[in-house]
Amino acid sequence: MARYIGPSCRLCRREGEKLFLKGERCYTTKCAIERRLYAPGQHGQQRRKKLSEYGIQLREKQKAKRFYGVLESQFRKYFQMALKRKGVTGENLLSILESRLDNVIYRMGLASSRAEARQLVRHGHFNVNGKRVDIPSYLTKPGDIIGIQERSKESPKIKDLVENAARRTIPKWLEFDAENQVGRVVSLPAREDIDLPVREHLIVELYSK
Ligand code: SF4
Repeated sequence: MARYIGPSCRLCRREGEKLFLKGERCYTTKCAIERRLYAPGQHGQQRRKKLSEYGIQLREKQKAKRFYGVLESQFRKYFQMALKRKGVTGENLLSILESRLDNVIYRMGLASSRAEARQLVRHGHFNVNGKRVDIPSYLTKPGDIIGIQERSKESPKIKDLVENAARRTIPKWLEFDAENQVGRVVSLPAREDIDLPVREHLIVELYSK
């Protein structure tokens, strides 16, 4: 699956806000937004133009894509899935994005960023219901059991991550038992469970044009 491989901080600077794409660094003074709160590029320091309605909707969509590290074609597929589900399309869209395996690993506290979670999944450290899954975009569902592969449990890095996860607060739609190194998707996340500063209705408006 294709993914953005350019500098992460540039994406935050483009959006003019922290997207928390780099784990611990995002909480330090090394964060690029703390040091250079202007858009990247030659004209970045010029005053930002007032955005049109379309521009506002576009930026909101770009922000959501960047949070989850998803490219346009995949994002559109999720939108089509969200349309087919019952309920509010924008909320369905966020719920689908949240249920990606890389996001679930991140939310369980087993990675400091979604990018790190994606890499851990790709390296085959996890299984879902006992079956190894190395596809970050794998969509989990309520009741799924997320485990760590036996050989990975011996890895010092994974041991550290599990120790860190034990100290983290995780959203109520997920569970993680650090002692047994196993997690569970309790339910689909509701909108109030998703702490994402995105106005999803603007994304729906954009794609509905
Ligand atoms: Fe964004 Fe994190 Fe880079 Fe700050 S350090 S600009 S929050 S990715």
